[in-house]
Amino acid sequence: VKILMENNKVSGVLVENNGKEYKINAKAIIMATGGFGANADMVSEYNPNLKGFGTTNNPAITGEGIKLIQEVGGDVVDMKQIQTHPTVVHQTPNMITESVRGEGAILVNRDGKRFINELETRDVVSKAELEQKGKSAFLIFDQQTRESLYAINGYVKKGLTKEANNISELSKIIGVDSKELEKTITKYNSFVKNGKDSDFGKKGLPREIVKAPFYAIEVSPAIHHTMGGVKINENAEVLDKNGDKIQGLYAAGEITGGVHGGNRIGGNAVTDIIVFGKIAGENAAKEVK
Ligand SMILES: Cc1cc2nc3c(=O)[nH]c(=O)nc-3n(C[C@H](O)[C@H](O)[C@H](O)COP(=O)(O)OP(=O)(O)OC[C@H]3O[C@@H](n4cnc5c(N)ncnc54)[C@H](O)[C@@H]3O)c2cc1C
Repeated sequence: VKILMENNKVSGVLVENNGKEYKINAKAIIMATGGFGANADMVSEYNPNLKGFGTTNNPAITGEGIKLIQEVGGDVVDMKQIQTHPTVVHQTPNMITESVRGEGAILVNRDGKRFINELETRDVVSKAELEQKGKSAFLIFDQQTRESLYAINGYVKKGLTKEANNISELSKIIGVDSKELEKTITKYNSFVKNGKDSDFGKKGLPREIVKAPFYAIEVSPAIHHTMGGVKINENAEVLDKNGDKIQGLYAAGEITGGVHGGNRIGGNAVTDIIVFGKIAGENAAKEVK
């Protein structure tokens, strides 16, 4: 609940457990409390355009650690850079992995039309979805894609998918123009056969949408990752507003900012937490010797 300082150096932390407070003395501490993707107030404070968005994050990801570091003079960077994930089922909420698109799902709007290269970056796909009627879209794929990706079985079990034996039936279930959707899929299948997406230039065209049953999942964007956070240097030392390190204060992972710039690429958060976690651990250990 608080970082303790003495003579401008970290001297420990104050923690709370079952209503009781404890002081833990330490010459160095590592803050690894994650980002602020589940703190709706903080998200809209730094980026008002994202007011009202849902989140893929668990409810503990509230940016508390960032505030604790600010209280002892730590600086922050890139706080406005907040990533949305384009394929989230909001009601639950459940995130549908990018691999579903990678393995062959297309995204269509309520007119049954594709509107974007499905494998564009998260920010680009999210923005395109919000421009469609109803501010959402449908992932459409077939049994072959389901068989190629184990995760889809989980989505089916959770009841996130709608399913039908032909495209016309599926369109009725999801309320999408059936003729247009059939046209879209026929055209898309010809792109797969020719190895070229002449409409949107998508590079990955692993399979046609041909084998029943056919599936649809309604998706829209939700807050996924906060690229901004506390400022650190290459040693994972937290910096103050003058760019000087705060003695004994280290941070690693999503609590930090500036590592990913404006758009964290899928998979890179795990690299970030491992690389900077190791650096922070080694340096903090040296400091307490
Ligand atoms: C659904 C989902 C899927 C993802 N998939 C991928 C993926 O495939 N590849 C990838 O690279 N990244 C992925 N990410 C991003 C990645 O999981 C996160 O960036 C990463 O987990 C951040 O790790 P962290 O250790 O910094 O913080 P977290 O894992 O968020 O852990 C922070 C911990 O600190 C605790 N905490 C917070 N405040 C306090 C406090 N005041 N006192 C004590 N404890 C506190 C929290 O409860 C939490 O346990 C995904 C994220 C989500 C939400």
